[in-house]
Amino acid sequence: MADKMKAAVFEAVKVIKVKEVPIPEIGDDEVLIKVKNTGICGTDWSIYNGWYSSDKLPMIPGHEFSGVLAKVGRNAKGLKEGDRVTADINMSCGHCYYCMQGDHLLCNEFTQLGIHTDGTFAEYVKARASLVHQLPDSLSFEEGAFIEPLSCCIHAAKAMNARVGGSVAIVGCGLGVLHARMAVLRACAPVIIVGDNKKRLRIAKEMGADYTIDINEVADPVAEVKKLTDGRGVDYAIEAVGTTKTYEQAFAMLRKGGVLSAFGITGEMDTMQIRPFEFVLGEKKITGSCAGIGDDWPDAIALLAHKRIDPKPLFSMKVPLEDLEWALHELRKDPNLFKIFVSPEISQREVL
Ligand SMILES: [Zn+2]
Ligand SMILES: [Zn+2]
Repeated sequence: MADKMKAAVFEAVKVIKVKEVPIPEIGDDEVLIKVKNTGICGTDWSIYNGWYSSDKLPMIPGHEFSGVLAKVGRNAKGLKEGDRVTADINMSCGHCYYCMQGDHLLCNEFTQLGIHTDGTFAEYVKARASLVHQLPDSLSFEEGAFIEPLSCCIHAAKAMNARVGGSVAIVGCGLGVLHARMAVLRACAPVIIVGDNKKRLRIAKEMGADYTIDINEVADPVAEVKKLTDGRGVDYAIEAVGTTKTYEQAFAMLRKGGVLSAFGITGEMDTMQIRPFEFVLGEKKITGSCAGIGDDWPDAIALLAHKRIDPKPLFSMKVPLEDLEWALHELRKDPNLFKIFVSPEISQREVL
């Protein structure tokens, strides 16, 4: 095997260079994965702009991925070269206070592959063998690269723990579309999604959402949600945009005793206004969730493999590594694009 590979290195803020770098060396407890696809995520845009993880530059981002095992460490049990895989990106220390509680996402030494360490906008990536998940034959490498974002939605859904028959409003039609599908699967009703993009709202409707609210047409989405729930507000609201305004809207959509699922990532120092009264006399609650981890991954694989969730309407295109920077900008410009995959194995853009 050659010792060099092609990678899209984020050299500094807003500087990406596709170049040859050494193929990662693996330890006994690690594997080397030949990358097939990597989905571009909002986090990659944040790293590109220096809003997140900028202290780690230069680095190779990319964390929503699928691939094939190219090399297997001595202690990697049950894995062999050629296996089709993805890997849980969340690495915890296993011995801090939070890890002992089982809260691995809160680990004091928490790192994520492709966000804090080199990731998958490259021909090869190394990962901990214990975090590798096999892909069923029925899953494509595109679907395999969609397990990570789906696992995040699953984690949030488990934290929110909606009851059968409960009403749900989702603010945001990016991953909000998946949240809507998940609410339908949990037998919630009605499921209402609020967003700014007709195509995505239509996909959410096709996935089972009962009502779509297009904020280009409706001035007050909170009033609209109240109208759809006998003036009460919803049992559950999911914020999946990540702005103070949409957080305040999602919270205002709740009925008394309702639960807000905090999913969208705001600026680190952003603050929202909530009256403590809402928690005391209103008994409202908030559940937070920052990633999918552990059993969220096999659960995501099961939902995809058994077609409970069909993400294909969300797949837009596949581009070569050289087009990653173009694609990052294009995703900002064209709201009809949803998931763009980057593949080190192609040399021309493909529409999916
Ligand atoms: Zn992501
Ligand atoms: Zn820990």
